[in-house]
Amino acid sequence: LDPDTFAADSSAVVDFLAGYYRDVDKYPVRAADLEPGRLRRLLPEAAPEFGEPAERILADVRRDVLPGLTHWQSPSFFAYFPMNASAAGFAGEMLSVGLNVVPFMWVASPAAVELEAVVVDWMARLVGLPDRFLFSGSGGCGGGGGGGVLQGSTCEAVVCTLAAARDRALGRIGHEGIVKLVVYASDQTHATFQKGARLVGITPANFRVVPTAAASGYALTGAAVRAAVEGDVARGLVPLYLCATVGTTGIGAVDPVRELGEVARRHGMWLHVDAAYAGSAAICPEYQGYLDGAELADSVSMNPHKWFLTNMDCCCLWVASPAALTAALSTDPEYLKNAGGGKPQAAAGAGAIDYKDWQISLSRRFRAMKLWFVLRRYGAAGMRAHIRRHVAMAEWFERAVSADERFEVVAKRRFSLVCFRLRGGGGGGDAMNRELLAAVNASGRAFMTHFVVEGKFVIRLAVDGAMTEMRHVGDAWELVQRTAEQLLQRR
Ligand code: PLP
Repeated sequence: LDPDTFAADSSAVVDFLAGYYRDVDKYPVRAADLEPGRLRRLLPEAAPEFGEPAERILADVRRDVLPGLTHWQSPSFFAYFPMNASAAGFAGEMLSVGLNVVPFMWVASPAAVELEAVVVDWMARLVGLPDRFLFSGSGGCGGGGGGGVLQGSTCEAVVCTLAAARDRALGRIGHEGIVKLVVYASDQTHATFQKGARLVGITPANFRVVPTAAASGYALTGAAVRAAVEGDVARGLVPLYLCATVGTTGIGAVDPVRELGEVARRHGMWLHVDAAYAGSAAICPEYQGYLDGAELADSVSMNPHKWFLTNMDCCCLWVASPAALTAALSTDPEYLKNAGGGKPQAAAGAGAIDYKDWQISLSRRFRAMKLWFVLRRYGAAGMRAHIRRHVAMAEWFERAVSADERFEVVAKRRFSLVCFRLRGGGGGGDAMNRELLAAVNASGRAFMTHFVVEGKFVIRLAVDGAMTEMRHVGDAWELVQRTAEQLLQRR
């Protein structure tokens, strides 16, 4: 690594990206060219034999790659959930990849491990989690009893918690009992729980999808879980794990954490709170109520890479019992025993953590640097303003939809996601809404995705882009209205 080349190439990339962000609203939001195989036809069959200058590579990125991208950072990207980018997120990521250390054990990079332990505690306090999820509780260092880790995604974090819950239960009932273990989720829960349950050996027939209904705002109710659990116990099965979601992917529904926690406690289940998207909102006191009851949970996760201005990838996972997690995930190979002679006594309990035992992979990124940079650069007040700005824009959109009698808001908006559709029941109504969404996206001027609520096709507008301003939300609404008018006239 030659420092001069490093500096030259890096500044060329920074200039390139600054230009990209200046122009990002000029690109069609969704990839304009949806023909599969386009890039393969443009690129050579084999890698180059000799190195090329960065400028030539960047020119190819501009010419060949950018036209085939869907621009997630466009201010008119309202699809899925966002993947926030920010100047601080990028700067922190640059520092992280520039230093390129691998904090899998304390001795492998002590300050990187310790920074991670500090940052996950900061985040836990900011979103109002109880002390039991912190390394350092209100009683000082070592007072919390729990702790956190930064993983790449909620999907990875969920697998780890399922493995911990499984091993804790099997320790009680014996390994052959694995066929009896049951995982509970709702019909709104993210699909990753189903995948995770399969990965840790839960019999697919023992994954319970408990139905939700409009009456509860599509939240999982304690009564519904209790009924499912009691039926399973009567058949000799063993309740293992329950997922409560704060801000479901489809419509942003919120499960009652306390109510579900009480059911989980009564039946000895592991409770996980998945706040992947909406957990960021809990930095504002007005949203912390959604995490009420978190002291009854065994683990909580949220993704700063979604709505917390932290570039990909970054997921906070907190556990009340690190021992339960590490019992399921720890390894002790000979080749890691000589990494520096162990921990000094004074460091034990003060962040001297072997994070390899808190996750699946051994090699891991220095994500703490990025999240620390974001928190320091914007401060808690800046982050609260960021969340509230998006919620205010979503509120405006929701009011605009409600004021137009041709449309309806389909599910209660709690955060910055608005689910709406053109009125009109039956299959015809769905076809019309599908057509509306397809036409809006084909325009290239906004990108939204859909969900299905009680059999009805619904358009989702997630207002969380770091560059999104009121005028972009206003334009999106005008686009939806105009497109709808054309559709309705043709019918
Ligand atoms: N859980 C919820 C509620 C989500 O909305 C998502 C993604 O949108 C996930 C989990 C998956 O997160 P990740 O992509 O970090 O695995």
